[in-house]
Amino acid sequence: MPAVVVIHEPVVGSRPSAEPFRIVPFDEPIVDAMNLGITRGDGIFESVGIRHGYVHEEEAHLTRFANSARILELPAPNADAYREAVRIGYRALGGGIADAYAKYVLTRGIEARESDPFGYAFVDVNPDWSRERTQGIRVVTLDRGYPLNVAQTSPWLLQGAKTLSYAVNRAAIREAARRGADDVVFTTTDGYALEGPTATLILRFGDAFVTPSPDFGVLHGTGQLGAYRWLAALGMRTEYRPVRAEELRQADQMWLVNSQRLAAPIRALDGEDVTIDRAFTDGMNEYLRDRRS
Ligand code: PLP
Repeated sequence: MPAVVVIHEPVVGSRPSAEPFRIVPFDEPIVDAMNLGITRGDGIFESVGIRHGYVHEEEAHLTRFANSARILELPAPNADAYREAVRIGYRALGGGIADAYAKYVLTRGIEARESDPFGYAFVDVNPDWSRERTQGIRVVTLDRGYPLNVAQTSPWLLQGAKTLSYAVNRAAIREAARRGADDVVFTTTDGYALEGPTATLILRFGDAFVTPSPDFGVLHGTGQLGAYRWLAALGMRTEYRPVRAEELRQADQMWLVNSQRLAAPIRALDGEDVTIDRAFTDGMNEYLRDRRS
């Protein structure tokens, strides 16, 4: 059962509160029917990986959470309150869990009532991703329906924010399943590769590693940040730049990386086999799993 922690400590700002946190049973409703997170997907979230109680890339997640709030014109989340909620949730889960994950959620509050934003976190056991990590995933490319510079031309589309409106991301994964695949790489209308619906793309060309630049409408992945740290320590070259969709077919290897599944090697792209290097990917995932950053 996941541990749910409602944050009464102001979720935005930093006024102290008499009862800052409340642990609630998983099956107890905590969200008002008119909460804008429910009725309009109007809010933001983060998913973070936890190894033996240590929260991976916590500062990078909190920075991205604050950036998502800025893009949605929400007040800045109270980072300390989310940090503490995750620690309380992890302890409430029973402690001693090797692989857990947490979600931080912040919604705009309740519709038609000038309410404050509403926030909570929950912590649960991370599912077993060993099959995806070792045997790889089949992906299809799907058109995301906008050009590469959408974040610059149309900021109201909220690219680069991790919003609660993930219905499109889930629909893309269902489309992948219809096409006999496990996951997706989104492409732009002008022919660039973006990211997966829940993960960052990394491509390998010899000793050089490339990920689509976070300046262009994709999230800056914290798993990818960790992978780049490991690659740099191995003496590999790493870069961020726009990636043409046709480069996917030229890459030696590719991964979709996120905080929960870590690095899933791509073993097929649009039905064509792609090489996976099991030992190399195992090394990357051992680093990502046990990193202290
Ligand atoms: N891109 C999208 C759209 C995501 O939803 C996610 C994570 O859920 C990522 C990239 C990867 O981010 P992270 O590595 O921080 O989990």
